Amino acid sequence: MFLLYTGFTVVNCPEGMVIYMEFKKIGVLTSGGDAPGMNAVIRAVVRTAGKAGVETVGIMEGYQGLMDGNFVELNSESVSNIISKGGTMLYTARAAEFKEKSGMDKALKVCRENNIDGIIAIGGDGTFRGATELSENGIPTIGLTGTIDNDITATDYTVGFDTAMNAVIDCVDRLRDTCESHARCIVVEVMGRDAGYIALQAGIATGAIGIVIKEVPFDESAMIERIIKSKAEGRRSFVVMVAEGVKDAEGKPYGEGLTLRIEQNTGVESRFNRLAHIIRGGSPTLRDRLAASMMGEAAVKLLLDGKSNLVVCERNAKIVTFEINFALTLDKMYKNKLKPGDLDRFSHSEIKDMEVLAEIRRQEIRDMYNAALSLM
Ligand code: ATP
Repeated sequence: MFLLYTGFTVVNCPEGMVIYMEFKKIGVLTSGGDAPGMNAVIRAVVRTAGKAGVETVGIMEGYQGLMDGNFVELNSESVSNIISKGGTMLYTARAAEFKEKSGMDKALKVCRENNIDGIIAIGGDGTFRGATELSENGIPTIGLTGTIDNDITATDYTVGFDTAMNAVIDCVDRLRDTCESHARCIVVEVMGRDAGYIALQAGIATGAIGIVIKEVPFDESAMIERIIKSKAEGRRSFVVMVAEGVKDAEGKPYGEGLTLRIEQNTGVESRFNRLAHIIRGGSPTLRDRLAASMMGEAAVKLLLDGKSNLVVCERNAKIVTFEINFALTLDKMYKNKLKPGDLDRFSHSEIKDMEVLAEIRRQEIRDMYNAALSLM
């Protein structure tokens, strides 16, 4: 239940109480791995809040800064010209203590002392766990995706993905030039611990002859055959894309062993290349600047409308929201990581909705993978 008042918000407490509070100051933080577009979100938050007469403070280094009271004042001018900058002007950190009661107590005290009425937390699934904890402890919090992996199942898109993808394409195109000159195969490992979106889409976009992701079984001998056949037809260069999350039977990165086997079985000189963090920085693309701006604006309006414990998502080109716990549990369902009891708090129809959404994602990946195979 929520009611709307101009300049006021109504917050549901865990006990079911309703607090009527005037909204004067919100905090914004970036947490977990950085992603291009985080600055554009910060700018959108500050500008939207300012127009509504609400002050924004920047919380430095994610939840660490929230526990330490490490803040920076932000206003319309101080966020000028950051829309084009990669990284995050508020910096980021992994703050283990925030998962403990002592860390939460520190954060709540800091919020009280600094009159912070609500928080917008930008990051990945870990960041959203922190956001839901804050919401449940009485600080209205909205989560917003900032991660290059596009690995939040509830949303079609996470801020940072497009910029990272374009960086991958740029690197692989360069590697391809050398492979073509020397008649080589390059096996490229890209980020994505749990999700193969980067490897799959970059594989399609760079004309890979093989794509190895966790979500779809990989037929290595069929790929070896493709390379042998293409080589016989005159092709000189080959690209194979591997997601970092894929490991061999000994738990080692799959791409390293694969490189040796390609060379042994095809006679094509092969090299392994891990792109790692090189794809995470840089000026955000149009797609990321737009997504960041629209989502940042939406997040502030949600907070001012009295909403809390939600994550801002994009589905079918529209901005939508999910309850954070729903989104986190959907994610576990999709990644087959559900533990006993995880579904207990959800109704039958919510669980059904999760199953449908998880299946939509699985089908999307399978369809894209099949399309990629047709193009190899
Ligand atoms: P990325 O996808 O880039 O790794 P992330 O948001 O998932 O981003 P994490 O390091 O998992 O990155 O989480 C960021 C921060 O969120 C943690 O350092 C911690 O402060 C907070 N956090 C993570 N899990 C929890 C939790 N269960 N409860 C409270 N806070 C948490």
